[in-house]
Amino acid sequence: MLLFLLCSRKPVGLELGHATITNHQGLLCPNCTHLTLKVEFSTAMVEHEYIVAFKGYFTAKARSKFISSALKNSDVVDWKIIPRDNPASDYPSDFEVVQIKEAHRDGLLTLQDHPHIKRVTPQRKVFRTLKFTHSADEVVPCNDTRWTQKWQSSRPLRRTSLSLGSGFWHATGRHSSRRLLRAIPRQVAQTLQADVLWQMGYTGAGVKVAVFDTGLGEKHPHFKNVKERTNWTNEKTLDDGLGHGTFVAGVIASMRECQGFAPDSELHVFRVFTNNQVSYTSWFLDAFNYAILKKIDVLNLSIGGPDFMDHPFVDKVWELTANKVIMVSAIGNDGPLYGTLNNPADQMDVIGVGGIDFEDNIARFSSRGMTTWELPGGYGRVKPDIVTYGSGVRGSGIKGGCRSLSGTSVASPVVAGAVTLLASTVQNRELINPASMKQALIASARRLPGVNMFEQGHGKLDLLKAYQILNSYRPQASLSPSYIDLTECPYMWPYCSQPIYYGGMPTIVNVTILNGMGVTGRIVDKPIWQPYLPQNGDSIEVAMSYSHMLWPWSGYLAVSITVAKKAALWEGIAQGHVMVVVASPAENDSETGAEQTSTVKLPVKVKIIPTPPRSKRVLWDQYHNLRYPPGYFPRDNLRMKNDPLDWNGDHIHTNFRDMYQHLRSMGYFVEVLGAPITCFDASQYGTLLMVDSEEEYFPEEIIKLRRDIDNGLSLIVFSDWYNTSVMRKVKFYDENTRQWWMPDTGGANIPALNDLISVWGMAFSDGLYEGDFSMANHDMYYASGCSIAKFPQDGIVIAQTLKDQGLEVLKQETTVVDNVPILGLYQTPSEGGGRIALYGDSNCIDDSHRQKDCFWLLDSLLQYTSHSVMPPSLSHSENRQRPPTVSEHPLPERLEDCNRMDLPLAQAAMSPGPEQFSETCERQPLPVVIIGNGPSAICLSYFLSGHRPYVRKGAVHPNPILQRKLQDIAGSSVVEQDLEFLSEGLEGRSHNPLAVLFDALVRPDGDLGGMAESVLTWRLEPKHLVPHLVLGKGPPGGAWHSIEGSMFTLSLGDWMELPGLHFRDWMRRKRKNLRNDRATTRDIAQYYEHYVKVLGLQQRFVCGTVVTSVKPLLSSSAEEDRVEPLTASRKLYEIQGFHQTAAGLQSPFCIHAENVVLATGTYDSPAWLGADGEDLPYVFHKISDLETALQKQRLGPDSDPVLIVGAGLTAADAVLTARHSNVPVIHTFRRAVSDSGLVFNQLPKMMYPEYHKVHQMMTEQSLTSSGPYKGYSSLPKHHVARFSADKKCVLEDASGKRTVFNISMAFILIGSNPNLSFLPSHGKHLALDPEQPVNSRRNPIDTNPFTYESVQEPGLYALGPLAGDSFVRFLQGGALAVTASLLKKRNVDLMD
Ligand SMILES: Cc1cc2nc3c(=O)[nH]c(=O)nc-3n(C[C@H](O)[C@H](O)[C@H](O)COP(=O)(O)OP(=O)(O)OC[C@H]3O[C@@H](n4cnc5c(N)ncnc54)[C@H](O)[C@@H]3O)c2cc1C
Repeated sequence: MLLFLLCSRKPVGLELGHATITNHQGLLCPNCTHLTLKVEFSTAMVEHEYIVAFKGYFTAKARSKFISSALKNSDVVDWKIIPRDNPASDYPSDFEVVQIKEAHRDGLLTLQDHPHIKRVTPQRKVFRTLKFTHSADEVVPCNDTRWTQKWQSSRPLRRTSLSLGSGFWHATGRHSSRRLLRAIPRQVAQTLQADVLWQMGYTGAGVKVAVFDTGLGEKHPHFKNVKERTNWTNEKTLDDGLGHGTFVAGVIASMRECQGFAPDSELHVFRVFTNNQVSYTSWFLDAFNYAILKKIDVLNLSIGGPDFMDHPFVDKVWELTANKVIMVSAIGNDGPLYGTLNNPADQMDVIGVGGIDFEDNIARFSSRGMTTWELPGGYGRVKPDIVTYGSGVRGSGIKGGCRSLSGTSVASPVVAGAVTLLASTVQNRELINPASMKQALIASARRLPGVNMFEQGHGKLDLLKAYQILNSYRPQASLSPSYIDLTECPYMWPYCSQPIYYGGMPTIVNVTILNGMGVTGRIVDKPIWQPYLPQNGDSIEVAMSYSHMLWPWSGYLAVSITVAKKAALWEGIAQGHVMVVVASPAENDSETGAEQTSTVKLPVKVKIIPTPPRSKRVLWDQYHNLRYPPGYFPRDNLRMKNDPLDWNGDHIHTNFRDMYQHLRSMGYFVEVLGAPITCFDASQYGTLLMVDSEEEYFPEEIIKLRRDIDNGLSLIVFSDWYNTSVMRKVKFYDENTRQWWMPDTGGANIPALNDLISVWGMAFSDGLYEGDFSMANHDMYYASGCSIAKFPQDGIVIAQTLKDQGLEVLKQETTVVDNVPILGLYQTPSEGGGRIALYGDSNCIDDSHRQKDCFWLLDSLLQYTSHSVMPPSLSHSENRQRPPTVSEHPLPERLEDCNRMDLPLAQAAMSPGPEQFSETCERQPLPVVIIGNGPSAICLSYFLSGHRPYVRKGAVHPNPILQRKLQDIAGSSVVEQDLEFLSEGLEGRSHNPLAVLFDALVRPDGDLGGMAESVLTWRLEPKHLVPHLVLGKGPPGGAWHSIEGSMFTLSLGDWMELPGLHFRDWMRRKRKNLRNDRATTRDIAQYYEHYVKVLGLQQRFVCGTVVTSVKPLLSSSAEEDRVEPLTASRKLYEIQGFHQTAAGLQSPFCIHAENVVLATGTYDSPAWLGADGEDLPYVFHKISDLETALQKQRLGPDSDPVLIVGAGLTAADAVLTARHSNVPVIHTFRRAVSDSGLVFNQLPKMMYPEYHKVHQMMTEQSLTSSGPYKGYSSLPKHHVARFSADKKCVLEDASGKRTVFNISMAFILIGSNPNLSFLPSHGKHLALDPEQPVNSRRNPIDTNPFTYESVQEPGLYALGPLAGDSFVRFLQGGALAVTASLLKKRNVDLMD
């Protein structure tokens, strides 16, 4: 985590690296106190040190025992626990810092696998230095006049003094050079009218407030109630050597001179920064634990950073608020740029504070919204929560007297002080919690005029109004923002800046639900959209996603708004509201299960216009833009070494805001594409705008874009640098300094972009250029851009003279290069085809570190692409030159050994590519086609891509016989072994020996409840790649995308993982937790989709593809030689089907393959009862139909009961779903409730409380015996005799007695069968019993247990449930078997 104190002092000179910018301002203002500020910050992982977090609080002895027992089984010998001598040492703790000398990943994994260990993360060290010169702590006299100030841009205007030497990447400073021109201080507490509350006798008494900062000197004259000073650093002092901590404490609790808000509060001073402003994550964790122990009420944290993925830190913040600690934190000093909110202030449960000056202007330095960590989910959230004075605020000097500081680290204690004071005014302190306090602050905040919500949040702190609200507070839920008015400008910017229209991308508003009723809560039923019909509410469609559980104190409600078709030509305002009911366990009554509820309304108002013409609509590709964290993406401008990470989201409402505003002012409508290219209707848009993309492209995206452009869409690409040598230099820096990581791309991912544009004969180079030039009479600056390496000969190319920045970075040589092609314009040849414009640098449209804007160029390019008007200034430019055909620089290749390296290698070996995908079958046959794209196919694709399992060195398997066999195969891959021999004698919960073998290797003692580490390690060996293609209907993940997302898996979350990506790690990165170690089905679906991406398999996956026929053929050689019987190697398969286009069209395809793997699962064809009337329209066979009926409100509490048939888990899920919406249920099934074969009787109660509940209901509440479950009746040992058209259902019991029931709908949930309709006779001839249909349990496909090849049809394989492996943990053994078999065949072919 990058932690740095968020304070900007009034600097008049700034040292940047070795250069000092001269202080002109200082000369102008001789009477002011002048300080020179040198800011240095960086974050570093501490070599060999790891934070080991436990699953609970344990004594030091127990912690040590866990760690030694975990490491006993590993190769790690040289390790020790780092002693921590601080006030928390006497108490149990939930973490330990361990030093492991060897660079041993396996050791870390062993630790991670210990049942009491939650996670292992590197220890981080944080630096920041403020160096005051002249009068660092000069005491200024008090007076009460105001500050006025001007801020100067933090971006250097001249670049001459920045050297690009060997220290290129050292972070030597961060924004600043902000200058104070004239400053006259003011008393902040009185300005906010704290004195009114003081006069009423409220002064903070009885409230415990903690200051996490640089400490406080003993006997400081300003403080009367310092309860405790604690030191968490490695310096043996409690005193403040810097003055920052004293200042912050003073703003909160000083009793004299520059008076704080709550002088009688109990002050707890936590010294977490050294005098050199160094800190470690572990210091914070200990100090946070201690704060929980001490029952701190309010905690000020004037720190922040962009790393929202420092999990130990962020989790601890959640734990603090869950323990009722009100966290107040500074939002960051990275304004005025948007998308610069810092963590943890950007969290829902933390009060994030921005800064204003005493004129009520938003301070220039104050970070602006939206939250960027939520962007992949659709859109960010409104933050800061609130703003208050942060410029020239007076607070306590280090020894006494007063001084002034600026920054959001100053605004934060203003709010923390106010919160402390407010808390002391409330009689019933039980009512005060992080949510209720935040609710009071934001409900009372005063809206600043002319300022938008991403700048001011809810507005300026109003202490007295907050006091009034808090003192009449009743526990309730509330929403932030409390309404959605897309017409309200400027407050609702960016929403108000563009009306909505039919066919546009959904507008997403991310609303925070605050729950003042309790730390946990839930949303009752579902939020409901209520259109106001007289106000045209039915002209919009509103969809919602929301957190089912609210914890701690908060949750989300994402509202997605689109225009209804009927309003496509209409203009006007539409209104309605969303209604949410929140329930929380009643205070002190959690035992009885009683709940309190609160209903909140979210008014919605939008402006609708007729859909604009295509030429005016620009689509911004957000999907392929990535940012730090989780990946390390270097800045686009390499000179910006002070702020090297690309962390602002690259969104039109963050760092591309100026560009967006410009396009709006030019009359364009800009929409955001948050999904792959395959997911939009290109006929709606004039131009697709791709700027600085970092992500890879799916093959079907490449195909789709080509078609779209052929059909008239145009494309503008603003690219950036990508040079592997420069990237390696960054990596080099990483290794030597133990900082940073390997970058995931350069400024942009040019190899991926080149894949996208190569079809038109275009490519960017790996050249890296920089310099000033003039184009079409505009001054331009090229900031670390690339050149165009190839361009069609009939295109227009413009070149410039630039400096070779690559050489400068790598060799410190300055070379000027003439005729560097940087801009290209091209009309594609197909009739009605679109146009393409490429430019090699994005800095000129990016707000972060932009030197000179080039919006004029964007206008000209859009004139060309969207309106087909060639700007003469470009076509007749004197810098026009012949398009390059051969680049001076080679085309960039993906950086080796970075995450994405396996992709090009795989491609080189042979990618099926789009050309394999055509209507006719004239192409070369593929070695393997996999049908289905669920976990079976994904796992097999991983193996076939060259990932090979080896036995990990030093691994010991608990099964001694297997261990002996494994010892013998050390050094060669498991794939090459005699798998039959290895699996001999093993027993497990699958009938397939290789399923048991693979499971035993990966989870050596899984069935015993142990967590022993896998004995396998994986290596990527591209030479063993088997070219293949995966065809599937939906996104990668198969059935998991069809299962209702909020349900919990039956298996442990870890058991659903596939090799190479730990599920737990992935969950952690998503900041999610497992419940009872189980995950939701949505998590699993997302994990598989992500898996395919990060492991570089996506080139092999063609989604949206339905296979309709697979038939064996004779190969041509066999046809010539008809008398010979078919052999496996001679057989070919013809696979036919269609590919669903984004526009909903079906394009047919045909492929030939030597081998076909059936991995189509069993989920697609639900089983039927065979009862009369089962095909009536109110009888359904999928649980998703129940969800749809509930969503569309076709069912409700007053409906006739729904009939649910079945006693499996899906039926149980249906019971729970219906009950959740208070819909009455009749539940019938054939067996007795006590039948040992019922799945409920096999599930441990603790692990599966929800299924246990259903079982209890099934047992206790039959028709005859009434139980506590109103609206539910169970009918065991019954079957359905028939359904009739008047919605009557006849049920029959074991004795033949029939009863008639009126029902609203029936759901037959008794399992499903595979759909093999694409095979002759539905594949029956392949089954164990060829007389019966294929069934995963009773009649799977008859395969060789050691190859999974069909016994009847060589060349045809079956995986997963089709071969009898119904659980994900077992189907992987099948993938191993198929891989081994295919490799063997391949080797035989090669030998032939
Ligand atoms: C409600 C439910 C809960 C479950 N819980 C668990 C659990 O907790 N633990 C566990 O291990 N397993 C669980 N399973 C089982 C698990 O889903 C399967 O074992 C697993 O998904 C099988 O993977 P697969 O890749 O073989 O098939 P699937 O995941 O079924 O994927 C096959 C894909 O192929 C596609 N397809 C089918 N026909 C065609 C065609 N003609 N053309 C193109 N594509 C086609 C299908 O649409 C499907 O998307 C559960 C299953 C269900 C239904």
